[in-house]
Amino acid sequence: MNISVIGSGYVGLVTGACFAEFGNNVVCVDKDADRIEALESGRIPFFEPGLGGLVERVTKAGRLQFSTDLSKSIRESLVVFIAVGTPQSNDGSADLSFVLQVASSVAENLNGYKVVVTKSTVPAGTGRKIRRVIQENKTENHDFSVASNPEFLREGSAIEDFMRPNRVVIGAEDEASAAILKDLYRPLYLLETPIVVTDVVTAEVIKYASNAFLATKISYINEMADLCEAVGADVHIVARGMGLDQRIGSKFLHPGPGYGGSCFPKDTRAVSQLARDHGVDLRVVDAVIDSNTRRTESMLTKIATALDGNLEGRTIAMLGLTFKPNTDDLRESPAVAVLQGILASGSVVRVFDPQGMTQAFRDEVTDVQFCDNEYDAAAGAECLVVATEWNQFRGLDLERLQGQMSSPLIVDLRNVFDPETMRSSGFRYVGVGR
Ligand code: NAD
Repeated sequence: MNISVIGSGYVGLVTGACFAEFGNNVVCVDKDADRIEALESGRIPFFEPGLGGLVERVTKAGRLQFSTDLSKSIRESLVVFIAVGTPQSNDGSADLSFVLQVASSVAENLNGYKVVVTKSTVPAGTGRKIRRVIQENKTENHDFSVASNPEFLREGSAIEDFMRPNRVVIGAEDEASAAILKDLYRPLYLLETPIVVTDVVTAEVIKYASNAFLATKISYINEMADLCEAVGADVHIVARGMGLDQRIGSKFLHPGPGYGGSCFPKDTRAVSQLARDHGVDLRVVDAVIDSNTRRTESMLTKIATALDGNLEGRTIAMLGLTFKPNTDDLRESPAVAVLQGILASGSVVRVFDPQGMTQAFRDEVTDVQFCDNEYDAAAGAECLVVATEWNQFRGLDLERLQGQMSSPLIVDLRNVFDPETMRSSGFRYVGVGR
């Protein structure tokens, strides 16, 4: 099947490469010419484990190409996936301008029947808007279908998530487009992947409802961590005791500095605004947004308290900048929010992140000392803050680390270390909720 994927970011590139791996002919399109040039010369513009090898393989096999020519790609495709960004507007709602620009291009290049599918996370009702734009602007009289196929992959394990998803959601307005999309996912039938086929607007809601629920789980355990600290309980054991109940499940019950990244913060705000626009109050989601917003301040208080209440004029080491491990994505990273708070309080910060420093440099995170490794970051520090749970931090040589620091204090915002081990190794250790 000939497919174009418009937008070659985290979602578009993974989607394109995986559909090519399934045996389809795919063109990944982007308006960013530098990005396409990089991809054509074999460079992946961001860090995602395994993606380089996959892209190289399917490109060599001739099933994946890259282009900035949106019109040509649309004209040569039966299925057009829209995977452009849907950033936050000023009022919190999702900005659909990139999505609707692509819809206009489809209208101008509709040279036969096509299925136009949103992979981007879009508010309920976007499918109807796309239909209207294409219907009103098409230059040739051909039929088309609009569908929704929300993406649930996680950065850092994106290929595995795409190739072995818990479910695939297909929102279609007719049987023909549902059949085409089901056919695209046929390789997953062997894994008995459940496929939820529904209408377009229901599929759109499934994505927001899922992300808002996951954000709720994170905020819930964060608040339970606060309670555990107050009463002297251990939140990890609380989470385990809760998570073994199959109605609850153990995932997303890890306390920390709050959720971040390119999805949860913007998607919770967007669904809240969408509901308000329809006269509905999502009180639980609004409380989650509020709870998560307060998280940075409470992490800063935790660090300041560990340093006798004062963050001014201190030297602090920070391990981790990205919003989660195995990515270089800094978008709405809680680590960066905490870093900025520490800097604003007048401390010197020495930072190390295995993948995030180039992007931080590009984003002009200024007044920070970028370091070569964890031990370099710890040099002369009075406190070491762990802000992202990269696996390589777990195996640090504690003696060497302590030798570098001017005072052996660790504030572990991700509970990477075992409190007892740290204390018996001579550190003053502060975790989250235990
Ligand atoms: P991204 O910012 O990494 O990539 C978007 C790409 O689209 C950019 O390269 C941009 O240049 C390109 N683009 C924008 N307008 C274009 C146009 N008119 N024509 C061609 N290219 C265009 O974004 P992303 O993280 O891949 O997210 C894309 C969508 O998927 C968003 O709606 C997001 O919410 C959703 N999503 C993201 C994730 C994730 O983990 N990143 C997971 C699931 C869903």
